[in-house]
Amino acid sequence: MKKMALHWKILIGMLLGLVFGFVMLNVSGGAEFVSDWIKPLGTIFVKLLKLIAIPLILASLIKGISDLKDISKFANIGIRTIGIYIFTTIVAITIGLVLVNTFQPGDGVSEETIAKLTETYASDSSVQAKISEANKQQSSGPLQFLVDMVPDNAFKAMSENKNMLQVIFFAIFLGISMLLIGEKKAEPLKNFFDSLNEVVLKMVDLIMLTAPYAVFALLANVVVSSGDPDLLYALLYYSGVVVSGLLLMVVFYVLVVSVVTKKNPFWFLKQISPAQLLAFSTSSSAATLPVTMERVEEHIGVDKEVSSFVLPVGATINMDGTSLYQAVAAVFISQALGFDLTFSDQLMIVMTALLASIGSAAVPGAGMVMLVIVLESIGFPADKLAIGLALIFAVDRPLDMCRTVINVTGDATVSMIVAKSVGKLGNPVVKNWDDHYDEVK
Ligand code: ASP
Repeated sequence: MKKMALHWKILIGMLLGLVFGFVMLNVSGGAEFVSDWIKPLGTIFVKLLKLIAIPLILASLIKGISDLKDISKFANIGIRTIGIYIFTTIVAITIGLVLVNTFQPGDGVSEETIAKLTETYASDSSVQAKISEANKQQSSGPLQFLVDMVPDNAFKAMSENKNMLQVIFFAIFLGISMLLIGEKKAEPLKNFFDSLNEVVLKMVDLIMLTAPYAVFALLANVVVSSGDPDLLYALLYYSGVVVSGLLLMVVFYVLVVSVVTKKNPFWFLKQISPAQLLAFSTSSSAATLPVTMERVEEHIGVDKEVSSFVLPVGATINMDGTSLYQAVAAVFISQALGFDLTFSDQLMIVMTALLASIGSAAVPGAGMVMLVIVLESIGFPADKLAIGLALIFAVDRPLDMCRTVINVTGDATVSMIVAKSVGKLGNPVVKNWDDHYDEVK
């Protein structure tokens, strides 16, 4: 009998999780049951993925660089990657701005809804926490991000997932130095990282065996912890504009993949789908990174020399979905609260949303922190910030799930384009053991 593909298993797990969540919402004590007994399964799964993220980046990036024959190749890949990332992010922000200015979702929000949302969320501790986190990030100088990228202790850098750029810096530095001392001398270290890389990829496969059950737990928990359905309904038009923009981004990726790589874009979407489904379920491109890397390398055929750099860097600095969302949200809030935006304000949104997407952490809810910075850049009154965030807080989680899918799809698309442009897009070597336990030998 033909075995069911992994993405179908995950999708079934997600649907069952949604249904189970809705059933439990209507049972007395159901929400507590889910949070006490079901949610931990999802949390463990996300922790396992995060557990292997740093070893995977380290091993695969060092392997990728030390496989290069010369350093100029790396500079070439680096410059293309950053250039294309900036381009796709600008496309995303532009789509967001065009949609939100055309459909004006903020104009239809009634005073009554604004009052209700403000009352429910403006003094909510998570809204306040996002504002103070944004202020902390803002008080640093313009080159602070470069300073932050360089670790002063390699082991300390590796001990925190949020230091991903520092780990990338260290891995590139080590990989380049290995190239410089010559193949023979670098061989023992190279073999070590090659082997570590294989082992960690196997760990991804093992973790993925539990994915269908984990997404069940994650989605059931999202349902039981979602807010008042009336408030969600009031924000339907705004959410519709964000989701339409995100769908347009998928169309953009599909076009780019077919024009640049000449591959069937639906084949691309199918191969990457397990990573997209996990991005949706976990709302974290950092947690999804190991799966994205495995799919792109083994199922799409992007050479590790390219993927090992493009994907981890993308997970931290390229967030097309998040920047589109920030553009729509900033204009929506301004419309709803009657704060007029000039053309130069909108250009300012493009600039800050671009920088904010580079600065956003790849974790749930990070986009909302950076939204504060976008709003402040257009002179949005500081005393109304909490009300602004309160307006969109109720739907942040579902929109976060959707924008994370786009963040991950964008990284995968760019890795294919860069690979194609440097002649490193080959044929996939599909090892089926990631989908089936009996083949994990
Ligand atoms: N959750 C997003 C990610 O991890 C970031 C965000 O938009 O909040 O990619």
